[in-house]
Amino acid sequence: MEQRPFNDISFRLFINEEKLMGSRCGGCGALFVPPRSICVHCSGAEMEWVQMKGLAKLAAFTCIAIGPPHMLKEGYDRKRPYCTGVVQLEEGPKVVARIEGIDTNKPENILIGTPLAAGFLRRKHGEAETAFLAFAPL
Ligand SMILES: [Zn+2]
Repeated sequence: MEQRPFNDISFRLFINEEKLMGSRCGGCGALFVPPRSICVHCSGAEMEWVQMKGLAKLAAFTCIAIGPPHMLKEGYDRKRPYCTGVVQLEEGPKVVARIEGIDTNKPENILIGTPLAAGFLRRKHGEAETAFLAFAPL
């Protein structure tokens, strides 16, 4: 795999390439998403990149009606809240991501444990375009 440093910048570069990547500790096998360069369990520094399948279950979520300016620009407001969640990947780690494809006006119908699949939404910043991670029900 590529020799990018195990940090958030690399994580985001991979997201731009539509890959959800984590680091696995060569010492104890612990998996980190986003990646860590030093293992919190055994202090090992022998990491390798691993690509996640992108399958997850919803672990927690919140629907946000009053978001930051860039979310307002995307058209989210009180009438159209957006949802941020914590998902547990099939591989184990939990990641924070946008949750799409659910009725954010009826959060009572959103169930913890809902199976989700990773997707990559693209957002323009002037000339540049970046992707961000979003999960949606399978
Ligand atoms: Zn370790």
